[in-house]
Amino acid sequence: MKAVVLAQPGTADSLVLTERPDPSPGPGEAVVRLHAAALNHRDLFLRSGATSQGFPPFVMGSDGAGVVEAVGPGVTSVRPGDPVVINPTLSCGTCPACLAGEHSLCDRFQILGGPSDGTLAEFVRVPAQNLYPKPQHLDFRQAAALPLALATAWRAVVSRGRLQPGETVLIHGIGGGVALYALQIAVAMGARAIVTSSSDDKLRRALEMGASAAIHYRREDVAARVKELTDGRGADLVVDSGGRLTLPISVEAVRRGGRIAYFGATTGAEGTLNFRALFWKQVALLGTTMSNQSEFAAALRFVGHVRLVPQVARVFPLAEAAQAFTLLERGEQFGKVVLAVAPA
Ligand SMILES: [Zn+2]
Repeated sequence: MKAVVLAQPGTADSLVLTERPDPSPGPGEAVVRLHAAALNHRDLFLRSGATSQGFPPFVMGSDGAGVVEAVGPGVTSVRPGDPVVINPTLSCGTCPACLAGEHSLCDRFQILGGPSDGTLAEFVRVPAQNLYPKPQHLDFRQAAALPLALATAWRAVVSRGRLQPGETVLIHGIGGGVALYALQIAVAMGARAIVTSSSDDKLRRALEMGASAAIHYRREDVAARVKELTDGRGADLVVDSGGRLTLPISVEAVRRGGRIAYFGATTGAEGTLNFRALFWKQVALLGTTMSNQSEFAAALRFVGHVRLVPQVARVFPLAEAAQAFTLLERGEQFGKVVLAVAPA
């Protein structure tokens, strides 16, 4: 099969389109013939070598959708021909966290596509339990744009953030995959979403998608604007994937007794915070990552129920994976960067 392999992390030609043996399913596993895959920020970290040094060459990509090609012994949940979307989270299944359904707290928690072989390929081998029916209202490219970003947004907004209808959520950096799903989930559940960006175009598009207010973070004081927009209270929940540059603003913008769900740390993993404001406002600082199996299922049900359609920024053929990475790296896209493996 054709596959995009991370050969030498951190180098200009780190991504190589190459031939790999077709995978075959073991017990409890299935092989999916991919129709489309999608990129995440995680892939940039891996490509740069920040998190992939020491891994042997592997097929990149966490997100994917396609059709079941073959199943291994003991698999009854899916059959060849089923259109599926892949949950890319892998856990041991036997530790106390896994048995409690908290797969993302498993000590052996991993994500498909580094170091295990991922979705930027014609086929991928996964545990059959990680396959879910493709939402019927979405095509394969839209479905491929769901998994990691949707799972992250769902856990941040719903499971950890416990956003309620009528509450106000501040979402930093609208335009990225997780932020857009957070916006779509918030709007669909009847919450009020305030978004930030340094792009007027992204802010305009977010307003079109139902955001209540949009703040240009280079021209405006985000925390002051959020206070104005909430009659001086602050946001009930902040969804923060920035880290170093945004978390101090989140602490300022959140209301007393509010929550900050944070992950990603895309602007830096270390920085300074006002600890006094944190305790005095009794802020719940909620670290969050990807979802558990039950949350992934719940997020997909929600997508089907509200007929949520992912924002696909651009589709590249698999052979142009390097260009797709470059687009993602520039951060100018609105929505997910998708790779087409099969014709639409
Ligand atoms: Zn486990």
